[in-house]
Amino acid sequence: MFPRSFEYVAPADLAEAAEALASAEFAKVMSGGMSLIPMMKLRLLSPDLVVDIGKIRGLDQIEDRGDAIAIGALVRHAQTAASDAVPAALRTAAAWTGDTQVRNRGTTVGSVAHADIAADQPAAVLALGATMVARSASGTREIPADEFFVDALTTALEPGEILAEIRIPKAGGGSAYEKLGRRGGHTDYAVAGAAAWVQRSNGSISDCRVALTGVGTKPTLAEGVAEALIGTDGSASAVEAAAARATEGVTLLEDLYGSEEYKAHLAKVMTARALTQAIANA
Ligand SMILES: Cc1cc2nc3c(=O)[nH]c(=O)nc-3n(C[C@H](O)[C@H](O)[C@H](O)COP(=O)(O)OP(=O)(O)OC[C@H]3O[C@@H](n4cnc5c(N)ncnc54)[C@H](O)[C@@H]3O)c2cc1C
Repeated sequence: MFPRSFEYVAPADLAEAAEALASAEFAKVMSGGMSLIPMMKLRLLSPDLVVDIGKIRGLDQIEDRGDAIAIGALVRHAQTAASDAVPAALRTAAAWTGDTQVRNRGTTVGSVAHADIAADQPAAVLALGATMVARSASGTREIPADEFFVDALTTALEPGEILAEIRIPKAGGGSAYEKLGRRGGHTDYAVAGAAAWVQRSNGSISDCRVALTGVGTKPTLAEGVAEALIGTDGSASAVEAAAARATEGVTLLEDLYGSEEYKAHLAKVMTARALTQAIANA
C-alpha cells in the first residue's frame, strides 16, 4: 500500500525541525523510518508533514559527559551495539534488534520514542534509569524514563517535541538484557524480555532496577523484584525468589505470541537470567 500524500521537510538543525513540527496540525518526526514508513504505508498513521531529522549534523554521536552517556537522536542500533561506553543492557538490546538492515537504519532514540510494546530499547533505558531530553520550539525539557512510557506506542512527548537525546547515568554496577524473540532465539521483537541493573556494595545488593517488555502495554519496572533483591547477597536462591515477583503489579497482555500465563512464566525466567548476568557484570 502507498501512504496518503504528505509534505516532507529535512531541516538543517534542531531549531528548524522544532519550528517545522509546530507548523503543522499533524506532523511526525522521522529518524530511521524503520517503523514510521511501514505505519504510513499501512495507513495506521497519516501525518500531514514528515520532519526528517536525518540531515541534522551532530546527532549521530555517543558522548561521555562525565556523569552520563548521551546517545544522540541519530545513533543507529549498530552503533549502540558496538559502543563500549554504553551499558551492557542497552548494548545487548541493540545487538538483538531485528536484522542487519534494521540495525543500520533504525535508531536507539527512535525506538524509545516509538515505544512499541515488544521493543527492546525501552526496557533497557528504563532499567538503566535514563533521562529523555525533549526539544521543542519553546525549549528543552528532561523526562525521567519511569515517567516517559505512558501506554502502547504512547510516550510523555508532546506534539511538537523531538526526542533529541537519551542520557544514561554513569551509576556503576552491572546490567544485562535477556529476551525470547518471536521466532525463538534473540533477534526479532520480544515475546518477553527483561533488562536488569544492579549495584553491589560490601557483598550485598545495594540497588536494583528490572524492567519488562513484551508482557504488558508498556515497558514496566518490576518493583517487587527490586524490593526482594536489595539487601540480599545476590545468590542464585535470592535471584530466584526475587524473580518470582516479576509480574507483581503488571497488567499482563495476551497476544498472538502467548497467553497471560505463558508471558508471566517467561517474564520470571527472563528476569532471573538478566539478574544473574547483571550481578556477574557488577
Ligand atoms: C523488520 C523489522 C524488524 C524489527 N525488529 C525489531 C526488534 O527485534 N526489536 C526492536 O526493538 N525493534 C525492532 N524493529 C523496530 C526498529 O528497532 C525501529 O528502528 C524502531 O522501532 C524505530 O526507530 P527508527 O529510528 O526507525 O524510527 P522511525 O521509524 O523514524 O520513527 C518511529 C516513530 O517514532 C517517532 N520518532 C522517531 N524518532 C523520534 C525522535 N527523535 N523524536 C520524536 N519522535 C521520534 C516517529 O515520529 C515515529 O512515530 C524492527 C523493525 C523492522 C522494520
